[in-house]
Amino acid sequence: MEFDISKPYCRYFSEMLQIPHGSFHEQAVSDWVVAFAKEHKLRYVQDEMGNVVVYKPASEGYEKHEPVILQAHLDMVCEKLAEVEHDFTVDPIQTEVVDGWLQAKGTTLGADDGTGVSYMMAILADSNLKHPALECAFTVQEETGLTGAMNLKKEYFQARRMINLDCGADGTTMTTTAGGVAVTLQENYIMEAEKKQGYTLRISGLLGGHSGGNINKERANANKLAARTLWRYLKEQQAVQLVSIHGGNKENAIPRDCVVVFASEAQEEQLQSITQAVWKEVQREYADSDPSIQIELTKMETQTKMMTLEETRSLIQCLVLLPSGLQASSMVIPGLPMASMNLASIHLEGGECVIHYSLRSALESWLDQMSDRLECAAEVFGFRMTVSNRYPAWAYRADSPLRETFAKVYETMTGTALKTGASHGGTECGVFCQMFEEMDIVTCAPQAEGAHTPQERLNLEAFDRTYTILTGLLENL
Ligand SMILES: [Zn+2]
Repeated sequence: MEFDISKPYCRYFSEMLQIPHGSFHEQAVSDWVVAFAKEHKLRYVQDEMGNVVVYKPASEGYEKHEPVILQAHLDMVCEKLAEVEHDFTVDPIQTEVVDGWLQAKGTTLGADDGTGVSYMMAILADSNLKHPALECAFTVQEETGLTGAMNLKKEYFQARRMINLDCGADGTTMTTTAGGVAVTLQENYIMEAEKKQGYTLRISGLLGGHSGGNINKERANANKLAARTLWRYLKEQQAVQLVSIHGGNKENAIPRDCVVVFASEAQEEQLQSITQAVWKEVQREYADSDPSIQIELTKMETQTKMMTLEETRSLIQCLVLLPSGLQASSMVIPGLPMASMNLASIHLEGGECVIHYSLRSALESWLDQMSDRLECAAEVFGFRMTVSNRYPAWAYRADSPLRETFAKVYETMTGTALKTGASHGGTECGVFCQMFEEMDIVTCAPQAEGAHTPQERLNLEAFDRTYTILTGLLENL
């Protein structure tokens, strides 16, 4: 199967690949949508961030039908293989077709969410389709915190039902996505000048993974394992003084490694045997869910600056007590996390300690509750706490007329039942629910894999099939 640009959605996608459109660099692609709207004599608004909403009147006979929003984001995640030369601010995405899949040559493809953008343009351009009045929202900065969507104004929209073209996959529509918030805890410690033997405690080999999709898989958190080991030294009367901690990098990833430097006058064998004991316990606990964990202690050079014994003890106790991982599961949707806290990173250097958390839940009250727990911990242990990047949840709705219609249409068209999915990740659906409480949403997207990685690829057969289903759905709205 080829990437056939005689099909309008393939042509629009191929045009889009020529225009660099990483997050925060969407002006050109936003202007491209505006030029398209002008060319097709469609009413549009473009805001100062680059969000564009294009309006298309109902087709003949659909004038009395309720309008519907179609929605996709213009920005893409820019990732490439180390050996590939590619400047995402200038270079077009180079593609190839392998076994019926469209993929980029060593970079992300941007099928997330170029497919949704192309579908909307193909629908807007086609005067033979049947549909109610359409409000097509092309948003910016989705991948960096849904900030484009959050800037949309209520008055842009009349519709109270929406088809999101960014999540789910072939034959699966999503029914809920999480909201989230980032929390940062900070504290400064006095570094004493002393001379003591240095040690490196290294936690590595963990599976990690996305903190939305993998938080319920009982994987270990490297930061928590480090805290647990450090506490055991103290518990077994081995005095240690912290020098530095570096665990985890990305807010949306479960930390896979943590490196702690500390100073101690304890006997090395004592420290080693405690480390080994903790490692054995951990191996047993995670044998099924995270089987390659390493915990190693190595001697290093003498340290000359370190935290006091007392403050070290306080910080270690704090790290042991800080909550992390899955907090609650949905009882309606099996396997779906309801609330989670990812202790994403700890960085201690030169006496300055910074801890990053990402909290997720489909219920706003859970986000508040988890944030409160951290606030209490911060108060007890003397941390300053800041809360940022809050984005709203799309809560599950048992009664969804739009989902019912979609299920009927899907079954009629394909002979198979539409599946429903649920995600613990954040999407723009939540932003639209926050804007209009009564918003009824389904999602419709073709099968693609490896989003946000250079392995991203789009199934071309699914790209065709999903377009047919999408236009079939519009005809029945
Ligand atoms: Zn996306």
